[in-house]
Amino acid sequence: MAQSNVEGTCALCLKHRKLCKSHYLGRVLHTLSSDPDNHPVVMTPKLIKATPRQLWAHLLCEDCEALLNERGEKPVQALFNGASTFTLLNRMNVALAAHSEKSYESYSGSAMGIETEPLAYYALSILWKGSVHKWTTLDGQESSIDIGKYQEPIRKYLHGEAGFPDGVYVNVSACTDVGSQGMTYAPSLLANTPFPMYSLLVRGIWFHIITTDTPPSGLDDLCCVRSARNLLFKADCSKPFLESARSFHETATVSPELKKG
Ligand SMILES: [Zn+2]
Repeated sequence: MAQSNVEGTCALCLKHRKLCKSHYLGRVLHTLSSDPDNHPVVMTPKLIKATPRQLWAHLLCEDCEALLNERGEKPVQALFNGASTFTLLNRMNVALAAHSEKSYESYSGSAMGIETEPLAYYALSILWKGSVHKWTTLDGQESSIDIGKYQEPIRKYLHGEAGFPDGVYVNVSACTDVGSQGMTYAPSLLANTPFPMYSLLVRGIWFHIITTDTPPSGLDDLCCVRSARNLLFKADCSKPFLESARSFHETATVSPELKKG
C-alpha cells in the first residue's frame, strides 16, 4: 500500500526527501484508458499486467516527479496512441517523408513542428527508472535492467545537471500496425545486437535506446536528438511486436486479473 509519509533518498536528486508513489512507466499512461475494465496491457520480461498503475515504487521526490513529467511525459503524452487518435502517426501521414525505404519512412521532427528531445527524455527516464529500482513482480521476483556506466550520465541529464549524454542514441518509430498501437512493453535488453540496445514500446511509439562509445558511422542519423533534422521513423512493427510478445510470454507470469476472462 502507498504510504503518505515515506522518506528516503530520492534516486534522481539524491537528496533525503519525502518520496512519492513513482510509476515505472510514468503517469502518462493512466490517462490513455478511462475505462476501468479495459486498462492498457503492460508487459515486462517477468510479468504481464493489465494496468501500468500497478507498477510503482517510492522512488522520487515530488520535485523530481514534476521534472520528469514536465520535460518528458507531458509533451509526449499528446503524441501517443490515445483513446481516439494517434497524433504522431497522423502528423506523419500528412507530412512529406525525408526518406523512404521499403520497410520504413523517416520524417523530420523539426519540419513537422514536433520537438523530439522530450521523446528521448521520456524514453531515457523510463530506462533509467528500470535500472535504479528492482521492480517487484507478482511472485516476488525482482526485475531490473542493467545500463552499466551510462546510468549516472543519464541521471545527470534527466536531473538537468548535464546535457544529452555521450554515447546514448534514441531511435523513435511510430507503428502503423494495430498490435503495437495497443501495447506497452517495459524496457528490455535486446539479444544479439552489436552494442547494448534496449527496446521500449508505449502505445504505438517504439523506442530503441543504444549505448556505445564506438558508434558506427550513421548512428547519429537514427537518433531523434542527434540527427540533423531530428528524424522520427514510421514503420510496420508487426514482426518485432510478435517476436517480443512471444519472448515475454515465455518468461513472464500472467497477472491474475488477465486470466479472469
Ligand atoms: Zn528528487
